[in-house]
Amino acid sequence: MIRLEGVHKYYGNLHVLKGIDLTVASGEKLVIIGPSGSGKSTLIRSMNLLERPSEGKIIVDGIDITAPKAPITNVRQSVAMVFQQFNLYPHKTVLENVTLAPILVKKVPRKEAEESGMAFLERVGLKDKAFAYPSQLSGGQQQRVAIARALNMRPKIILFDEPTSALDPEMIQEVLDVMVSLANEGITMVVVTHEMGFARKVADRVIFVDGGEIIEEGPPEHFFKNPNHERTKMFLSRIM
Ligand code: ADP
Ligand code: MG
Repeated sequence: MIRLEGVHKYYGNLHVLKGIDLTVASGEKLVIIGPSGSGKSTLIRSMNLLERPSEGKIIVDGIDITAPKAPITNVRQSVAMVFQQFNLYPHKTVLENVTLAPILVKKVPRKEAEESGMAFLERVGLKDKAFAYPSQLSGGQQQRVAIARALNMRPKIILFDEPTSALDPEMIQEVLDVMVSLANEGITMVVVTHEMGFARKVADRVIFVDGGEIIEEGPPEHFFKNPNHERTKMFLSRIM
């Protein structure tokens, strides 16, 4: 579903991704862990071209999105993203937030977008908040709206960049629960998170990124039981 080949990213002189080769299968749940500043956001954001690689190739669902004339808009429609900071539109209601992109970008008729939007809001437990504004919701509720918004684009792939890092501790679980239920449905998921309980429950594979490189990868148990590298062990000892 996603293939990165020799991906490098520079910000000026700063070499942030140093030759990433990575394949994510259809339906796979991949968790990315690693220290702050190691390039995790740059890596996941490159998967829908929010960051353009300086070098290398990224193929999503058979399309080379790094090619000069790649249909970026189409790609963004099939690869949804959930951010640490929710990024909801403050002056739009919850339902408007959830329907805006399908209506404007995908040209879905309003009624249809609203029906599916309500269904996804129900899935994340927020149907009764459809006509509220983001500022009237808790952080956990806002993040669940952001997930409903992503789902209403009917993506093939959903990317999560530290979706619970900005939340108060008591709200983390409600968001993870929604993510776990999604994971059980066959969508391809790439998740940057340090929630190792989540990783253990849903990840098919975990990759540890440090200094812009994939240092180690394996199923979650590998990271709990016997990581190979000192850097991985040190990192895990700090987060677990
Ligand atoms: P992580 O998500 O693992 O914390 P990032 O991918 O956000 O790491 O950042 C990797 C490195 O790239 C950091 O040193 C960060 O300061 C730098 N960086 C990220 N985005 C930009 C940018 N737009 N311009 C310049 N430097 C950036
Ligand atoms: Mg980050």
